[in-house]
Amino acid sequence: MKGTIYIIPFNKIDAGILKRLAIQLEKRFGYKVKITKELGIPSSAYNPKRNQYLSPVFLSELKRRIPRDAIKLLGITDVDLYVPHLNFVFGQAELGGKTALISITRLRQEYYGLRPDQKLFELRILKEAIHELGHCFGLNHCPNSRCVMHFSNSLQDTDYKSHEFCNNCKKILEKGR
Ligand SMILES: [Zn+2]
Ligand SMILES: [Zn+2]
Repeated sequence: MKGTIYIIPFNKIDAGILKRLAIQLEKRFGYKVKITKELGIPSSAYNPKRNQYLSPVFLSELKRRIPRDAIKLLGITDVDLYVPHLNFVFGQAELGGKTALISITRLRQEYYGLRPDQKLFELRILKEAIHELGHCFGLNHCPNSRCVMHFSNSLQDTDYKSHEFCNNCKKILEKGR
């Protein structure tokens, strides 16, 4: 399909992780996926009281940098994100829009005092990336707890759901293109 999905790291993200993610997203969405040079973390997003970063500020940064051939932009960061009234978010996206964002901070086993598990870590990144991009392609949350568009309130939800769209979401996705 014509057009490109851009992955935009905020600060350094492991190149191997980005590359493998790009390959998977290309397969899933059928668009070329390019990884861009990293952007700095927007300093105005930082909330010292919470020691977290306000997610919408990152989305605004992305919106100011939409390349002409961009179908979607996926920001990826390793700082902890929040939105008002929530303790944290794994990611955020504009429903039916062009920009999405994920944080990988809470997807690591180490964050919870557990032993590192690179495979699980990258599977979670893939699920969150597909989920947020799914919102950009117009999908809402899905009641099917195995569907990648199911809302993850916790990492257990993320681990329980698959990285696939259910048949219903697949249909909506096809129509949305
Ligand atoms: Zn969601
Ligand atoms: Zn679904």
